[in-house]
Amino acid sequence: MACEVKTTCPYCGVGCGVIARVDDDGAVSVKGDPEHPANFGRLCSKGSALAETLDLDGRLLHPEIGGRRAGWNEALELVAERFLQSIAEHGPDSVAFYVSGQLLTEDYYVANKLMKGFIGSANIDTNSRLCMSSSVAGHRRAFGSDTVPGMYEDLELADLVVLTGSNLAWCHPVLYQRLAAAKASRPEMKVVVIDPRQTMTADIADMHLAIAPDGDVALFNGLLVHLTTSGAIDQNYVSAHTTGFAEAFAAASALNLDGLSAATGLAQKQLRDFFRLFETTEKVVTCYSQGVNQSSAGTDKVNAIINCHLATGRIGRPGMGPFSLTGQPNAMGGREVGGLANMLAAHMDIEKSLHRDQVRRFWGAPAVASKPGLKAVDMFRAVADGRIKALWIMATNPVVSMPDADVVEAALKACPFVVVSDILRDTDTTRHAHVLLPSLGWGEKDGTVTNSERRISRQRAFLDAPEEASADWWQLAEVARRMGFSEAFGHASSAEIFAEHAALSGFENDGRRDFDIGAHASIDRAAYDCLEPFQWPQPKETAPQEGRFFADGRFYHPDGRACFVPVQAPKARLADDALPFTLNTGRVRDHWHTMTRTGKSARLSAHIAEPFVEIHPSDAQTIGVADADLVRIESPCGTVIVRALVTARQAPGNLFAAMHWNDQFASKARIDALVPPITDPFSGQPASKNVAVKAARF
Ligand code: SF4
Repeated sequence: MACEVKTTCPYCGVGCGVIARVDDDGAVSVKGDPEHPANFGRLCSKGSALAETLDLDGRLLHPEIGGRRAGWNEALELVAERFLQSIAEHGPDSVAFYVSGQLLTEDYYVANKLMKGFIGSANIDTNSRLCMSSSVAGHRRAFGSDTVPGMYEDLELADLVVLTGSNLAWCHPVLYQRLAAAKASRPEMKVVVIDPRQTMTADIADMHLAIAPDGDVALFNGLLVHLTTSGAIDQNYVSAHTTGFAEAFAAASALNLDGLSAATGLAQKQLRDFFRLFETTEKVVTCYSQGVNQSSAGTDKVNAIINCHLATGRIGRPGMGPFSLTGQPNAMGGREVGGLANMLAAHMDIEKSLHRDQVRRFWGAPAVASKPGLKAVDMFRAVADGRIKALWIMATNPVVSMPDADVVEAALKACPFVVVSDILRDTDTTRHAHVLLPSLGWGEKDGTVTNSERRISRQRAFLDAPEEASADWWQLAEVARRMGFSEAFGHASSAEIFAEHAALSGFENDGRRDFDIGAHASIDRAAYDCLEPFQWPQPKETAPQEGRFFADGRFYHPDGRACFVPVQAPKARLADDALPFTLNTGRVRDHWHTMTRTGKSARLSAHIAEPFVEIHPSDAQTIGVADADLVRIESPCGTVIVRALVTARQAPGNLFAAMHWNDQFASKARIDALVPPITDPFSGQPASKNVAVKAARF
């Protein structure tokens, strides 16, 4: 019998609902779920091609030890034994998990519980560190919690949508479709795109500001000063609900209009026009993504944006607010379970003894980590220098995606014990594993994800588990039991884990913690199977707000106020004749991460078939490169050779290259091998958008 199952797309943070149909002959087809509030039936090219990526070619289907097939028990025993041995000989901080925004919340929850509550280290970090950790740090500084105030409907309700560091058309395509439809029906709605490149998103913009790399703090500081001097500040709101305005204004005033123009690369008229538009439009939403986050000043950029919304009281109301758009399907779920090395579970704070005690008592945990663990870049440094001796990587491919990727590969080669859980047998990362554990893929696994607007949706299985592949949470729980933690890891299903996760969020939560889905603490299997997409906060009698955060002007700092954060524009990188170009890394429309899934679809590969670098015609002429020539790009960290795409959409002096390809697709194609391990001092997020390189015809 043919069957249809409602599930969620596994790619970007939009979190679109998908209906998967399995016909009698086993053929799978997908369509958008018209009832899902994220997409109302829409899908983008990646989501539409999901059925083309489900074959078992290249799948890892059995555990392996040292390249030979092994049984589950033998593999799990070995993992537990080697982790216990390292902990006994070198302490809990000698082991680490590097996980992923591709994991389901239930997988993430068990990984975080094992590491932070039972191993007693906070050395669990995630590829979400590379994606949105600057937003997390900025939210916590401003709001006292990692609360995303935005909702997708804000893009339709706003009169001005500012997109900064966000190529929405390619990276969050269904949100772009919603925005474009809203603008078509209300042509008076304005869209401003702030991006060094003239992206496809800029094609619907009323104003495109081709900002200099890392010019965002200066731009939003200039906006704060303009709003203040033009009398657009909401003084009542600032007095009643915030602290620190004077300090933020003083910091923002450091640059005059000439200085702003120099720091942003924008003409004074462009600055004045943008400032005036923001000033005179009440309903403004400012969306930002990796162009803001992936910077050595990423957290300051986030706070510069939030400062402007706090100053005008444009937050917590329909069609208004700062809005971080997460890259991955479950970056938000990972944040909810505390999957970042500097967070505890359920949005609790690892540095607060009250929160550590609450988590300890809830879990019955012997050893809750008492300090933040190593963030991604530092974690791989610790692997490289031998401090970490046992590493478990789940659902991610850091040899392609981490900055300084060649050094990351060398670190894995030298690490005494590497476990990789993945769906594929042969990736740049699995090649360095001592133990390989086969995981379930999309359509086979079962759990929940949270999208960028805090909406929790089910991913449901509609295919049988192939051969010996198993859920990531099951692998973790089985290792935990073998490490002696049977009682706390007796979960029999993802439904049980979700119920425990929900219960922890509500445990002793008096409303001073933003994340509370405790209403689901007693959910049973049947209710979990039927769970409709829902957004938190959920209306309930005792909730201070209903549905929308900050509607009542109450924030999560102890005094209930939001904080303005004084931020100053970073110094521009000094001109270097040896490295004259600035490389900006990013994505293409039809591929996802390191292409382990989208690379299977010929249709998706037809859009852009090979690694490339965008270069402005004047720069191409200077270095003697024509369209489609091969170009060698070098940074102090590495070298790639990719094809030239000569286009005036790229600003002179700047290059753009996508991060998807690896050395299997083309020789020397790993773009992240060029990116130095420079990180934001607050978030630890790598600066992947502003890399000094040289380029020459190959
Ligand atoms: Fe999937 Fe994102 Fe496309 Fe939606 S917009 S179908 S979640 S990739």
